Amino acid sequence: MRKVWPLRLKKWLANMCGIVGYTGKDEALPFLIDGLMTLEYRGYDSAGVALLGEKGKIEQIKCKGRVAALAELCKKFDTTPTTGIAHTRWATHGEPSDTNAHPHADCFGTLSVVHNGIIENYQELRAELEAAGHNFKSTTDTEVIAHLVEENLKREAKGDLLLALQLATSRMVGSWAIAVIKVDAPHELYVARSGSPLVLATTDTGAYAASDVTALAGITSHVINLEDGQLAHLSYDATRAKGEQARIEVFESDGALVKKPDTFDIDWDASAATMGGYPDFMAKEIAEQPEAIRRLLKDRLTKEGIRLDELNISPKEIAAIDRIYIVACGTSYHVGLIARTLIETWAKIPVVVEQASEFNYEEVLVTQHTLCVIITQSGETADTLASARKMHAAGAKVLAITNVIGSSAAREADAVVYVQAGPEVSVASTKAYTAQMVASVLLALFLAEKTGMMGPREVENKFEELQRVPDLIEEVLTRAWQDEAATPAFTDAQSALFLGRSFGATTAAEGALKLKEISYLHAEAYPAGEMKHGPIALIDNGFPVVVVCPDDHVRYKTISNIEEVKARGATVITLATDNDQKIAQLSDYLLLVPPAPEYYTPIIGVVHLQMLARFVALARGCDIDKPRNLAKSVTVE
Ligand code: GLU
Repeated sequence: MRKVWPLRLKKWLANMCGIVGYTGKDEALPFLIDGLMTLEYRGYDSAGVALLGEKGKIEQIKCKGRVAALAELCKKFDTTPTTGIAHTRWATHGEPSDTNAHPHADCFGTLSVVHNGIIENYQELRAELEAAGHNFKSTTDTEVIAHLVEENLKREAKGDLLLALQLATSRMVGSWAIAVIKVDAPHELYVARSGSPLVLATTDTGAYAASDVTALAGITSHVINLEDGQLAHLSYDATRAKGEQARIEVFESDGALVKKPDTFDIDWDASAATMGGYPDFMAKEIAEQPEAIRRLLKDRLTKEGIRLDELNISPKEIAAIDRIYIVACGTSYHVGLIARTLIETWAKIPVVVEQASEFNYEEVLVTQHTLCVIITQSGETADTLASARKMHAAGAKVLAITNVIGSSAAREADAVVYVQAGPEVSVASTKAYTAQMVASVLLALFLAEKTGMMGPREVENKFEELQRVPDLIEEVLTRAWQDEAATPAFTDAQSALFLGRSFGATTAAEGALKLKEISYLHAEAYPAGEMKHGPIALIDNGFPVVVVCPDDHVRYKTISNIEEVKARGATVITLATDNDQKIAQLSDYLLLVPPAPEYYTPIIGVVHLQMLARFVALARGCDIDKPRNLAKSVTVE
C-alpha cells in the first residue's frame, strides 16, 4: 500500500471569475458587456472594462457592484473602439472597491491588465517594483502584473509585449488567466494562462478570449483551449486575406510557437444560458430537471447492460478495484454521500467520501487498484482538481463526473461522465445536483453489474424504475404550492433544523445548504437519531424543523424523532410520501412526494427542498441567483 503525503497543492488552487477580451472589426463594448453578464455568476463584487482606441489611448471604466452598473457607466463612452478587455471580480486580495476593480494599469496608463486568480508572491514583487520606482494605486495582487510587464518592456523585452508577459509570468507564483492590451497595439490582445481557465476563438470578424465557453456561445462553436503555461497573441488585420483577418497564435512558456493548439467544439446553444421567461435562473433550472435527467438516461440500457462507455475501464480493472475515493465540495459532496451508499449496497466495493479541501492535506491510502471519482459541476473547482492530481500522482485512476464539456476536470481525468444538465447559471446548484445523482446511480449499477453483484434482471428493473424519476419530479414540480404554503414557518425564524435518516440525512443536508445559501437563514442538518445528542436543545416554540421522512426502511424511527421535536414545540415541516396519515397528523406542513423506491427518493424529494429554499429567499427579499459572498465556483483555498 503506497502512502501519499500532502502535496504542495497551492499552485493549483486558482480563483475563477470572469474575463473577456476582443479585437476585431466590430465595436468591442457590446461583446465585452454581454460576455461579462454571462460570466457574472462566477463573481460579481465589481466589474470593469478597458477599451483601446485608434488614437493610442486606453480608456478604463470600473466600479464596485454588478455588471449592470458598469454597463450604465459605459454609456458615457462616445468612441467606438474595436479592441478591449473586461473583468467581473470575486475579490481575493483587497476589498471590493472602485479602485481595486480590474483592469489595472501600469504607471503611465500605457497598458491595461485583467486577471483571474491569485498572485501568491505579490508582496515580494510589489516591494521590488516599488523600490524600482513604480507607483501602485490598488491593494490587489493583480496590479503587480501590470507593473512587472511595464518593467520588462523597459528592460529585457525592449518593447516586445509577448516577451514582457512571458518574463512576468516566469516571476509569478500562483494562478492566472490574464489579458493585456497596450496603447501602441490597437488591434492586438495578449493573454496567458496558468491554473485559471481561458478559451480563445476567432470568427471572420474578430478574435475572442473568455474564461468560459458560455461567453462565446452564439458567436462560434469552435474553441481553442489555452493550456497551463501557454500564452497567446490575438490580432485583427483587415488587410490580411479573407478568413485570416482575425488570428490567434499560441506559444509555450518559453516562447516556442504551438503548431496545434488544443481545440474543442461547444455543443450548447446560446438560448440555454438565458432565462427564457422564468423569474430567475434558479426557477428555470429547477424546472429543467426532468428533461436533464431524460437526456442523461437516453440509450443507457442495452442488451449488454448499462452503457457507460465513457468509463473506459476494463472488466478486469473493475474486478480489481480495492476501494473508491469520492472527492467533491459543497452540493457535489452530498451527491458523493448518496453515491457511496448505492455503490456499497449494490456493488459491494468500499467507498470513502471526502471533502476535497480536507482530503488534499491528509494522508490517503492508495494502490494502483484504487478508483478516484471527482464530482464537480463546473469541472473547475480547484480543490477538487487538486484532489484529482493528488490521486493521479499516487497511481489511481480518476473518473470525473461533471457538467461542463472541455473543463479542466474533463480534460485531466482518465474518464468523464458528462451529466448533460446544460449551463447552470444560478449559484445554488439544482439541476446539476440531481443529474449528478443520476450519473452516480448509473455508475453504481454499472459497477454492480460488472462485478457480478447484481444480475441483469435486477439491473434492468432498477433502470426502469430510474426512468420513471423524471415523471415523478414533474409531479413534485406541480406541488410547488406546498413549499410556498410552508414559507411562513421561516419568516420570523433565526434558524432552522433539517433532520433525516439514511438517504434522508443527505437530502436534509442538501436542503439546509440550499436554504442558507440563498435565504441567509441559518440552517443546520443533523442525522435525526443524533439530534438528541445536542441540537434538540435548540428546539423551542415555533422553531422550524424540516424532517425528511419518506416511506423508507427508517420511517418508523424518524417518526419518533418527529414526535420528540413536536413535543418541544417545534413547527414541523415534513417531506413525506403521499397518503401518510400518521405523518400528516404530526406535521404542521407537508411536502409530499409520490411513492418511489427509497434509493431514488433523494433525487425526487430534494426538488421540494430546492423550491422551499427559493420561496423562503423570495419572502426574505434575497437575490435568488446571486447570493452574497458566493460565486458559482468557489475555488479559493
Ligand atoms: N486576485 C485578484 C483580485 O482579488 C483577482 C480575483 C478574481 O479572479 O476576480 O483582484
